[in-house]
Amino acid sequence: MMSVEDEVIVIGAGIAGRMAALAAARRGASVRVISHKESTLAHASGLIDILGYHEDDPVSSPYATIKKLPPGHPYSHVGSDGVRTAMDCFDRVTTSYCGGHTDSNALVPTIGGRLKPTARYPESVAPGLASRPVDTLLIGFETMPDFHAPATALTLERIGVPFDVRGETIRFPVELRPDAGRTRLARALATDEPVDGGGCRSALAARIAPVLGDAGRVGLPAVLGDGTTDGIRESLADHLGVAVFEIPTGPPSLLGHRLKAELTDALQAAAVRIETGNPVVGHNATDNRIDAVLVQRSGDAVPYAADRFVLATGGLVGRGLRADRTTVTEPIFNCHISHPSDRYDWSEPEAFGDHHFARFGVRIDEFFRPLEDSGAPTFRNLHAAGAVLGGADPAAEKSASGISIATGYHAGRVAAEGAT
Ligand SMILES: Cc1cc2nc3c(=O)[nH]c(=O)nc-3n(C[C@H](O)[C@H](O)[C@H](O)COP(=O)(O)OP(=O)(O)OC[C@H]3O[C@@H](n4cnc5c(N)ncnc54)[C@H](O)[C@@H]3O)c2cc1C
Repeated sequence: MMSVEDEVIVIGAGIAGRMAALAAARRGASVRVISHKESTLAHASGLIDILGYHEDDPVSSPYATIKKLPPGHPYSHVGSDGVRTAMDCFDRVTTSYCGGHTDSNALVPTIGGRLKPTARYPESVAPGLASRPVDTLLIGFETMPDFHAPATALTLERIGVPFDVRGETIRFPVELRPDAGRTRLARALATDEPVDGGGCRSALAARIAPVLGDAGRVGLPAVLGDGTTDGIRESLADHLGVAVFEIPTGPPSLLGHRLKAELTDALQAAAVRIETGNPVVGHNATDNRIDAVLVQRSGDAVPYAADRFVLATGGLVGRGLRADRTTVTEPIFNCHISHPSDRYDWSEPEAFGDHHFARFGVRIDEFFRPLEDSGAPTFRNLHAAGAVLGGADPAAEKSASGISIATGYHAGRVAAEGAT
């Protein structure tokens, strides 16, 4: 007996699965998301790249450049207008993101001192954009060795940013263990933890003020609050008299957590049910149609029935794809993954070479249905989106979230419309 019935079941709660669920729900479908673990959103920078590089050159206009991508690229199933429609949905459901006012990429300073061409960025990052010629002070903390503010400032200066930039390392005003994580700092600022008879925020401003000099803005690693940055940036800016911005960090990423929370709110508002903690381990199918997916719960494989399914389980990192010494597989539906038979052909000798493995993944038709080697759809009612798709190297192109948003949105739309 089937335990649950939905119109659309989305497998995976990363950015692709969440966008698929939202797009389907907004078309009136009853939608359930089933996800095993925390998605890569918790680690991601929180920036939304549509297309940052093409043939190793930085891209200024992602929508115009999408047209130059080869057939088989995930964007080729969507087109640049389709990416725009999906980004419009992203812009509507998120409240703290900027960048939708222009088709051009923004240049965001990162903790390593590179400038990242990106399409959307949190508003807490916005005052730090490299296009603003405002002299800048970067502040790092002694307990956060992965952000060395002076080195970052030097790198930015060397690449020729159009403003003066300096970096200082200070001690966080609250007493911390040497291995304190970012979330500990964020919590202290969120609660304005008491310190020396005052609050943590004013104590932090008091430590920055003596090194402020002529800087017109101050950048800190993204620890300005665990939920929202509201109140914290304003408080620091009031004390210092200059704008304060966040610099995206590596994992764990507060910006990624905040994006996840915003998308969760949007899913709840759209009446999407989310179940996390149990993996989908298989499926039941009849006549080239999936009847149910099997969810591992307390040792049992429980069937979840639906009309349509969206596979959004991520790539090798999200565990949507598995690789051993000889093969690459998609474990739930056994979708076909094309790859060279000789493992030595999966990668190039150079670390930043054009590696085959970066493009491994499911190939899809115009309805986002995974395809067999023969070109026939694996199942009539299965659609796929996000990093499980092949045909692109998102890390090199800086296109990961854009691909997930665009293919997630359209796979969810097609699933809800039943348009195959
Ligand atoms: C460190 C890091 C930094 C990043 N920085 C950027 C950036 O600067 N800009 C940018 O645009 N993008 C960035 N990204 C990429 C982006 O955040 C996403 O990783 C990417 O878009 C893929 O999203 P996804 O939804 O397809 O997959 P994932 O985020 O991998 O989500 C897959 C989901 O499927 C679930 N799942 C897998 N198997 C099963 C199963 N059998 N049953 C049930 N659930 C399952 C997983 O638990 C997970 O929740 C970064 C990613 C990482 C890891």
